[in-house]
Amino acid sequence: MPIQLTEAMIRAGALKESLARGHECYHNGAVYDTAVSGNTLTARCRGVYAPHYKLRVEFDAAGILDASCACAYEFGGYCKHIVALLLAYLNDPASFETQTAPQDLLRELDRDQMVELLTELMQKNDDARNTVERWVAELARKGAAATSASGTKDTPQRQTVDDTPYRKRIRALIREAGENYSPDYDGEHEELAQELDKIRQVIVDFLNADQPRDALAIAAAVLDEIRKCQDYAEYELNELDDFAHQLDILIAEAVLSIELNSAEKKKLLKTIGDDGYPAVRDALAYGWTVASRADEADPAIGARPGDDYQADVVEAQLNVLDRRGDHERYLAIALAAGRHLRYTQKLAELGRGAEAAQYAAQHFKRAGDALALAQQLRTAGQVDEAVALAGSGLRLAQPRAELGRWLAPIAISRKDNDLALRAWIAVFDEHPSLSLYQEIKALAGQMWDETRIHLHEQLAHSWQHQVHAEILLCEQDWDAAIALARKTRSGLTSQVVEIVADGVMQHRPDWVVETGKQCAQALIDTISSSRYPEAAAWLARVKKAYRVLGQGATWDAYLARLKEDYRRRPSLQRALKAL
Ligand SMILES: [Zn+2]
Repeated sequence: MPIQLTEAMIRAGALKESLARGHECYHNGAVYDTAVSGNTLTARCRGVYAPHYKLRVEFDAAGILDASCACAYEFGGYCKHIVALLLAYLNDPASFETQTAPQDLLRELDRDQMVELLTELMQKNDDARNTVERWVAELARKGAAATSASGTKDTPQRQTVDDTPYRKRIRALIREAGENYSPDYDGEHEELAQELDKIRQVIVDFLNADQPRDALAIAAAVLDEIRKCQDYAEYELNELDDFAHQLDILIAEAVLSIELNSAEKKKLLKTIGDDGYPAVRDALAYGWTVASRADEADPAIGARPGDDYQADVVEAQLNVLDRRGDHERYLAIALAAGRHLRYTQKLAELGRGAEAAQYAAQHFKRAGDALALAQQLRTAGQVDEAVALAGSGLRLAQPRAELGRWLAPIAISRKDNDLALRAWIAVFDEHPSLSLYQEIKALAGQMWDETRIHLHEQLAHSWQHQVHAEILLCEQDWDAAIALARKTRSGLTSQVVEIVADGVMQHRPDWVVETGKQCAQALIDTISSSRYPEAAAWLARVKKAYRVLGQGATWDAYLARLKEDYRRRPSLQRALKAL
């Protein structure tokens, strides 16, 4: 497949700032060592914080599949280096050195040569080593899944792991987080979250290694410590709540993988206490029997009243079946429990993408689900299905912006302007901005009048007054901008009023004079010297507006009177001096 690249595709994937700087980078010749290999472009770009950055852009039938740069840019879209690389290819593809695609190179090698090559690569490069290890582990997992699916029953595995270090670790973590805790701090305890995630990963590793008893021992011990700490704690850590929810599912997965005797079940029930942990409770009560069948519950544990849809235990069941490679049962449970996304993602994984897309079109309710499946389909090379699904996803429940942001560049690269327009509008509805407004205007063509009405209705209902003001000013709709400023002015002054005053200065100077005086007076009346510079800034606008009106003398008289009225306020006098 030849690489298809257009100027519009570059524009659709980068913010204005990146585009402008990317053009500079390109024209300065900062991109070098450019090469093309199959669907992938690579290059280096001279950098500011490093001698050079490594760049890589991969294409598929839907356009740019992936773009990466080693720089620290993180403001959304492509960085300027990627933009520069894309411009270089767009303008002169022949200047790119053509390299043989990796698969064509490797095809020439026999098994021994391959082993030798990979060994050398793994010894020299940690990333390569990690990738190979992950591959081998994944293959082993699939192999084990195939054996257990074919009916070989393992001998019951006994618990061997010692839970003491995990108990100690979790106590120390909670103690440290408590010491750093402050009631005013509502951010995240990132370190705590990272450490908890490491523990979660250990439990998952034990489950993946088919050692559910060890997984259960660690998870139950950790949960036990968390519960004890929470009983005494005077503060709440959100990270612990999230983690407890993950533990709930993981323990349920272990329970579903083991035949626990009644003493073991009772012990576990005691550990989880009287409330919370619905997945564990349901796993103990129902095991593998699907939800809402209270009559099949273990009578010693009983059904949970008022809960007919046991989402969490279904989650655990699906995870276990996924691990075992029991696809048929996985699909049956996901379908019965209405887990639409997991059902379709499994279908897609099994190469039944068209079926997945068809089911999704009928059952998905949320745009986010459509995005998740569409991304998976695209990666699997089913681009048409992915695009159709994402397009219909734009009609599903919000939030839709992320779906729109993903789909728009693809639609542009497929030259489907209508779809791109719908996708960008979905983004604008949730995250309006002036640059996006202009992009939509350029795309809309004959549809603009109709589209414009929709965008302005959205703006009227949004809290993004500043963006609304910028757009009205850009459209030179001075009176609408003033009406918006009047509507949003609350308290002493606001940024929206400032933006509008500056924007309409040449066109509605009367309003600027009147509003500027009011705002300045309100700030002066606070008798707080820290607000005087703001008051002076408003008076500077009043002065400018009088000049536009050709009433310099009126301004002089007004200022003189102000200085006289407030002669006993030296800090205000200082602020007025510059006027
Ligand atoms: Zn970069």
